[in-house]
Amino acid sequence: MKKKTRFRTKSKDLSYRIKRISLALLLCLTGILTAGCTRERETTPITKSGFYFDTVIQITLYDDRQEALIDDCFAMAAEYEHLLSRTVADSDISRINQSQGAPITVSDDTISVLEAGLSYCELSGGAFDITLGAVIDLWDIKNNPGVLPAQEDLAMALDSVGYEAVTIDGNEVTLTNPEAKVDLGAISKGWIADRMKEYLNEQGVTEGILNLGGNVLVLGPKSDGSAYRIGLQKPFDQDGSLLLSVDIADGTVVTSGNYQRYFELDGTIYHHIFDPDTGYPYQNGLLSVTIVCPKSVDGDGLSTTCFALGLTEGLALIERLPDTEAVFITEDFEVVTSSGMGDTIPYEILE
Ligand code: AMP
Ligand code: MG
Repeated sequence: MKKKTRFRTKSKDLSYRIKRISLALLLCLTGILTAGCTRERETTPITKSGFYFDTVIQITLYDDRQEALIDDCFAMAAEYEHLLSRTVADSDISRINQSQGAPITVSDDTISVLEAGLSYCELSGGAFDITLGAVIDLWDIKNNPGVLPAQEDLAMALDSVGYEAVTIDGNEVTLTNPEAKVDLGAISKGWIADRMKEYLNEQGVTEGILNLGGNVLVLGPKSDGSAYRIGLQKPFDQDGSLLLSVDIADGTVVTSGNYQRYFELDGTIYHHIFDPDTGYPYQNGLLSVTIVCPKSVDGDGLSTTCFALGLTEGLALIERLPDTEAVFITEDFEVVTSSGMGDTIPYEILE
C-alpha cells in the first residue's frame, strides 16, 4: 500500500538552472537536522568534513576526544578510493577496466563491492548496471555544458554495457566483454559508510552520524534513546531547504536524485542515472528516491535501483523487502511513501 502527499511548492514549474555544485550545497544534499534531538552532554560534538570520491564526507561524533577516529575514517575513505575509483589510474577498478579481458587479481574489498553491485544488477533486472562506465564518460554530466552525445558514439558506448560480462572467481575478475567499463559509483559510498560504522563500533563509538554525499548512516541508537532526525533536501531548491525529515534510531537514509548532478537542455533534465538500454538518463517522472534500511550498501544500491525502476516497480520492490522503506518524490512534487513510513519510520513533511 502506498501513501501519497501532495504539497504546495513555489517552484512548481521547476525553473531548472545549471548550478555549480558548491561545497555547501553538496553538504546539503542530505541535510542533517539536529533540532529536537539535542540533549545535555558532558562533551561537545565534533564534526569534520573531507572530500573523497568527488564527494563531501561529513562525520559527526558526540565526543570531541574522538577526533582521531574521524581522521581514521578519512584515511579509510582515501584507501577505498584508491581501490574502487575508476579515475585513479592504478585502482583495482582501473586495472579491471584496462584488462582487455585478461583475468585480474583484486583485493577482498573490491570483490565485496563488485558482488554487492552485481546483486543489484540482478535484483533490478538490469536497470541497475555496474558496467555503464563508457556511457558515464561519454556524457560527463558534471562538466557537460549542455551537449548531447553523438548517436554513433552512444551506440559504441552501449556495446560495452552488460553486467553479465563481469565474472568473479575467488579474487580474480574477468571481463568477458573486453570493452566493458566497470563503474561502482552507485554503490561504493554506501559500502564504505558501512565499513566506517563497523570500525567506529569496534572502537567503542556507538553514537554519531556519517554523511557520505547523501548516504547518511547513524552509528546506533543514542544513549538517551532519542532518534536522529535526518533532513531530505527539496529537489532543485536553490536555497537547499529541506522537504521532509525522517527519524531513525539506527540504520541508513540514502537518496538518489536527478537534481544531484545534471544539465538542462530545452526543458529536459539530463542527469547522472542512465538507462542501460538507451544510454540516456532515465526520464520516468521521478525527482528522487530515498531509502531507509539497516545497511548503507543496500540503501545505496536500492536508491539507484528504485530511481531506475520508476515509481510503480520501485515501490513494489520495496514492499517485498524486509526492514526497508522508501520515499519517492515525483516531478509534481508529490511525496509517495512505502507502507511502513510513518508507522515504523516516523517522518514529517516540513512545508
Ligand atoms: P547514486 O547517486 O547512488 O544513485 O549513483 C549514481 C551513480 O551511479 C552515477 O553517477 C554513475 O556513476 C552510476 N550510475 C549511473 N547510472 C547507473 C545505473 N543505471 N546503474 C548503476 N549505476 C549507475
Ligand atoms: Mg546508489
